[in-house]
Amino acid sequence: MEIILAKHSGFCFGVNRAIDMAFSEAEKKERKGRLFTCGYLIHNKEVVKRLESMGVTMIESLDEAAEGDTVIVRSHGEPREFYEKAAEKGIELIDTTCVFVKKIHDIVSKAHEEDVPVVLIGDREHQEVKATNGWCGYRAHLIGNAEEAKTEAESLKGTEPIVVCQTTIKEELLKEVLEVFDAAGIRYDIRNTICNATRDRQESCAELASQVDAMIVIGDERSSNSKKLYEIAKKNNKNSIFIENAENLLLNRLTKCNRIGCIAGASTPEWIIKEVISHMSENVNKSMEQNPMMDFMDDIEKSLRLPKPGDIIDGKVDQVMGDAVIVNMGCKKDGILRSDEVAMEEGQTLADLYKVGDEIKAKVIKSDDGEGGIMLSTKRLVAVENYAELEAAMENRENITVTLTRAVNGGVIAAYKEITGFIPMSQLSDRYVENAEEFLGQTFDVRVIRVDTKRNRAVFSRKAILVDEKRKAVAEIWENLNVGDIVEGKVMRFTDYGAFVDIGGVDGLLHISEISWGKLKHPEEVLKIGDIINVKILSLNEEKGKISLGLKQTQPEPWTLVGEKYQVGDVLEGKVVQIKDYGAFVELEAGLDGLVHISEIANKRVENVFDELKVGETVNVKIMEIDPDKRRISLSIKATLPAEEPVAEEAAEEAPVEEEAKEEE
Ligand code: SF4
Repeated sequence: MEIILAKHSGFCFGVNRAIDMAFSEAEKKERKGRLFTCGYLIHNKEVVKRLESMGVTMIESLDEAAEGDTVIVRSHGEPREFYEKAAEKGIELIDTTCVFVKKIHDIVSKAHEEDVPVVLIGDREHQEVKATNGWCGYRAHLIGNAEEAKTEAESLKGTEPIVVCQTTIKEELLKEVLEVFDAAGIRYDIRNTICNATRDRQESCAELASQVDAMIVIGDERSSNSKKLYEIAKKNNKNSIFIENAENLLLNRLTKCNRIGCIAGASTPEWIIKEVISHMSENVNKSMEQNPMMDFMDDIEKSLRLPKPGDIIDGKVDQVMGDAVIVNMGCKKDGILRSDEVAMEEGQTLADLYKVGDEIKAKVIKSDDGEGGIMLSTKRLVAVENYAELEAAMENRENITVTLTRAVNGGVIAAYKEITGFIPMSQLSDRYVENAEEFLGQTFDVRVIRVDTKRNRAVFSRKAILVDEKRKAVAEIWENLNVGDIVEGKVMRFTDYGAFVDIGGVDGLLHISEISWGKLKHPEEVLKIGDIINVKILSLNEEKGKISLGLKQTQPEPWTLVGEKYQVGDVLEGKVVQIKDYGAFVELEAGLDGLVHISEIANKRVENVFDELKVGETVNVKIMEIDPDKRRISLSIKATLPAEEPVAEEAAEEAPVEEEAKEEE
């Protein structure tokens, strides 16, 4: 035997919400007064019994309640004066009126205010119809069948009524009534308020009933929608059975059936459906070998199982309201997708994006919104996709583009599509950042360095990209550098032993001894920070990242030009750079020193060179001899002086001959 549960079965969104609200109210430990339901919360005895066992008593009218009591308003709704009376008496109301029923209240209430006649198609004895009529001053034209439509059509002639329906009537009835109106020439404004949950159950009932050997409709005898399902089932399958619970099921009617269809009204709780199915599977199949009961119950369980927060569901749009879309998710509860959970452009409405029957994918954000609804979000689904993109980007070390939106403690918040991530201050740049404000509003690429999809968190780094880019650029630079190349560079900073020069992305060391052909005490004597200079690459060590540069190598070595630039007999200005016992060295230009022998310092006998000259002193000298090969220049100060005292012989004798001094040099 095969048991098939109809696609749409059991609690609808409105009933579910009402029950959840009622049970959670009943579970509250502290209450000022008593807790009541006024009339049947829903048309199901089992549910009412359970509520009673939790201390919720059913009353017939508000007269039975007093100040401080709490009354749960049933899902079918109450008329306007019910609310007014509760307020007067100080009775708290827990309003479980279904949102679709409330929508009808709004329509008829507005029509009443505008003096527009209201036609209400439905069962005049049903609580929903009574309550709705109470929102238009009990002046609705109530129509329960085509005959009544004909009578009312007479009184409606010359008017243009608004037509609404009880949420659970059959589409057929609405069609019949409108045909009567059309025939009578009545213009009307139709608002088809038949609930989709009803429509879906009715359609799947008709479809299933026509395919099975027997059709079982489970519902309370007072449940209007369950009874209508039974009518539909019977119309499509003579072997249709209406039961309230498993005990009512006469199994002998099913023993010869191979395929049994099963549907439950919108007010039938899941435990009753399970009981009935389990009962059938256990008993009818006793003699049958192929009883896939366990699998079957699994399927039932599956259809009754509720999605959890975080689940991604596929569903179908069931209803589109002003600020929410009701989504059928193929389980016992419907999902609610509120407008603030949908990414919409300014001016867009839900109706612009969705229509009934549309396939929809959404993320479950709450399995119970406090009112029994399963809250969905497509916006956060986009966020889920965005987080998945981040994960992929992190794995593949790909960059993503973000916009910096606000500064927070320790960093900034950066927006990526529908989600945001955090950039710590230290990751904003490859340089020290003191104030993040300067980055706000900027859009740039970042690397994803951490993603936590469970906690919806992501951390980005811009520094990682900058460092990588730099590394790449440096590698390229290294590739193009050769020892001996002359490259342009910028003096970046000094140390005592030289200067660091940026040669297009990498720094090289210009040692103090490589700056000038002359002797320097500090690079500042020749260079300034920011100077653009040409330097020669003296050595490269890529492994250690060291580059040695030379500046003096870009200029001719002075001794190579000495023959061209200087002649014996030239009188020049020079600087004393070194003093020895036998004389003083005088710099003619950087890297070109000549010796003034002690005997050539003055027109007198000089005992001690230090008494006559000081390092740094500028003196006039005459070139006495030039020997480029030996790199020697003999200078004389004396020869530039007017002849006065003869040079003391002893001094001349004691001093080493110039040749000896040159050797020492
Ligand atoms: S059948 Fe529709 S209108 Fe009635 S309670 Fe359920 S969801 Fe609301």
